[in-house]
Amino acid sequence: MEFLSGAARVVIKIGSSLLVDERTSSIRSEWLQSFSEDIRDMHSQGLEVVIVSSGSIALGRKVLSWPGSSLSLEQSQASAAVGQIQLAQAYQEALGQHDIKTAQILVTLEDSKDRRRYLNSQATVETLLEMGVVPIVNENDTVATDEIKYGDNDRLAAQVSVTIGADLLILLSDVDGFYSGNPMVDTNANHFNTIDRITPEIEAMAEDTKSKSSKGGMKTKLLAAKIATAAGCTMIIAKGSNSNPISSLNGSVKSTLFKAQIKDPQTARKKWISTMKPLGELVIDEGAVNALLSGKSLLPAGVLIVKKDFERGDAVSILNTEGEVLGLGLCAYSSDEARSIIGHQTSEIEKILGYAGRGVIVHRDNIAF
Ligand code: GLU
Repeated sequence: MEFLSGAARVVIKIGSSLLVDERTSSIRSEWLQSFSEDIRDMHSQGLEVVIVSSGSIALGRKVLSWPGSSLSLEQSQASAAVGQIQLAQAYQEALGQHDIKTAQILVTLEDSKDRRRYLNSQATVETLLEMGVVPIVNENDTVATDEIKYGDNDRLAAQVSVTIGADLLILLSDVDGFYSGNPMVDTNANHFNTIDRITPEIEAMAEDTKSKSSKGGMKTKLLAAKIATAAGCTMIIAKGSNSNPISSLNGSVKSTLFKAQIKDPQTARKKWISTMKPLGELVIDEGAVNALLSGKSLLPAGVLIVKKDFERGDAVSILNTEGEVLGLGLCAYSSDEARSIIGHQTSEIEKILGYAGRGVIVHRDNIAF
């Protein structure tokens, strides 16, 4: 798949209408098989893949015999709880046929707002990807009500892309890209192949064109594009209902590409970290300074002093013994925890704290120099 040659980490969002047949409310098995072949090919190309999939409500409402009419919030949540098992199982079976392991991740908007949870989910996904696992992400509809809800998986997928530093986000749904108007009602609406920048004029063109089973319309897709591209992630909107939806993006399928606004996702993360107010300080030894400068993470063994009080996930300044600030990082431990493990080997952390903590005190991806 040549069009993927510049990417390393790809997030693919699957809309409900692709995974679930609107008429029968059951999984579109043949489509899922072909999608799994695409994932297999992406894996063999060396790409890391995360899937954000909708469809739990569409699947669960059938089991609970709530077809047709609209659902109350509680009914939607109950349907999601029932359907999510089927959704995860369907991906597990389909990808398992190609010896690809899957994991289920359920998140809410609050999880990406809270820095500690943000770091936790980032670390989990990193570990899964290192192990060649394909995480299947959806919103945790049981706990997410309006105030803490993404409400649409387009935005959730964009947020996931930013969290894990993906360089490409592909939104597959029942629309084949971005138009100057709603193509369902306006036959003169123009299709865009590429959008270099999301201008106010582009925003004014987005209309809420929702299908029966999907929550997001073009407005949410544009919002997702804004979040992703601002963080250095290119985004593609394409119609995914046909077989092999990813490999067919190689030219045969119409789509819209939104260009990333900065070079790479890591730069954006570091920019974000560098705007934070440091709540504490870590003074580190020379060995650790050299390790950091050569792109490694900060280990407890290299920290000499922990100053001030902070919580897990807070930003801290990293200083050398001369008192020079080398950078800013998100600390994986609170100040109290950090004080008890500094100077120790990573293998001793569990014994000292009484629970298994992270191996590093500040991960290299979370340091802005
Ligand atoms: N979490 C919902 C589901 O899986 C979908 C939300 C969406 O489609 O954007 O059914």
